[in-house]
Amino acid sequence: MLDRSAPVFVAGHRGLVGSSVLRRLQVEGFSDLRTVGREDLDLRDQSAVDAWFDAERPRYVFLVAGTVGGIHANSTRPAEFLYDNLMIHGTVVQAAHRTSVDKLLYLGSSCIYPRLADQPITEEALLSGPLEPTNEGYALAKIAGIKLCETYRRQYGDDFISAMPTNLYGPGDNFDLEGGHVLPALMRRFHEASEAGDASVTVWGTGSARREFLHVDDLADACLFLMDHYSGAGHVNVGTGVDLTIRELAEAVRDLVHPSAELIFDTTKPDGMPRKVLDVSRLSDLGWTASTSLVDGLVDTYRWFLDAAERGELRL
Ligand code: GDP
Repeated sequence: MLDRSAPVFVAGHRGLVGSSVLRRLQVEGFSDLRTVGREDLDLRDQSAVDAWFDAERPRYVFLVAGTVGGIHANSTRPAEFLYDNLMIHGTVVQAAHRTSVDKLLYLGSSCIYPRLADQPITEEALLSGPLEPTNEGYALAKIAGIKLCETYRRQYGDDFISAMPTNLYGPGDNFDLEGGHVLPALMRRFHEASEAGDASVTVWGTGSARREFLHVDDLADACLFLMDHYSGAGHVNVGTGVDLTIRELAEAVRDLVHPSAELIFDTTKPDGMPRKVLDVSRLSDLGWTASTSLVDGLVDTYRWFLDAAERGELRL
C-alpha cells in the first residue's frame, strides 16, 4: 500500500486521466499531491524535469501525461505524437530513477497491440505483429514507455509498473470534433444537431469497427489499485472486457442526446483497427473489475459536458 502522506506527482493532471487520478487520490486521503502546468514545466525537457524532481522529491509518480488525440489527430500529426510522447516518457522515467522514486505507474494505451491481434487482446500480444497505421507513431512511443519501465526494473530494480487502458471517456474529455476521440466527438455532434434542429448526424467510417469504452474514473481507481497492490514487470490491461460497434455506440449517444436523429456514415473516413477489446483477466485475477456501465457513464459525461459548456470551460 502506498503511504497516503508521502509526496505524489501526477504528471498530466489537467488531462482526462490526470484530473480523474487527482480526484481519486484526494478522495483516498493523499495529503501531499504535487502537480505542475505545462507553462511552468516542459516535460519533454530532461534538464527542466530533473530540476523539478530535485526540488519536489516525489516518492510516487503517476505518469499519465502525453500528447493524445483521436484517429484524425493521430494520423495527421504522427511526428508530434511520436516525439512528444517518447520524450515525456523518457524524461520522467529517468528523473524518477535518478531521484529514487519508490514507485511509478506508467500509462500506456491499447493501441500498442498489433492491428490484427487475436481478440480479446492479451498482454502477450505485444510486439507479435504489425501496428495499426493510423496511430503507429503514438503506439511506438507507448511501447517504448512500457519497455522503459521494464528495463529500469530489470537493470536498476526500480518499482516501475505499466497499465494499458482501453479507449477512455468521461468528465474532462476533449470535445474537439477533429482532434478528439469518437465518444466525445459524437456527443458534441448530436448535441449541436439537436440545438440546431438538424435531422441527421454524421458518423465517421462504416460503423462496423468495434471498440471497448472505459469510464475514466474506473481507470483512476484501477491505477491506484495497481499502485497499492501490484509490483510486477509485465504490463496490465485495464478495460471492461466488453465491446460494441461504433454504430451501436452512436445509437446509444443518439438515444441520450438527440433521439430523433438519423445516422449518416461517412465512409471516406477511416475505421482504424477493425476491433479492439482487451482481455482483462490478469487484472481481474488481481482483484479489480470495472464498475461503471456504458449507459451510466454516458449520462455522467453528458451532464458534465452540459455544465462545462454553460461555464464556458469545454476543451475544444
Ligand atoms: P481509435 O480507437 O484510435 O481508432 O480512436 P477514435 O476514438 O478516434 O476512433 C474510434 C472509431 O470511431 C474509428 O473507427 C472512427 O472511424 C470512429 N468514429 C466515428 N465517428 C467519429 C468521430 O466523430 N470522431 C472520431 N475520432 N472517431 C469517429
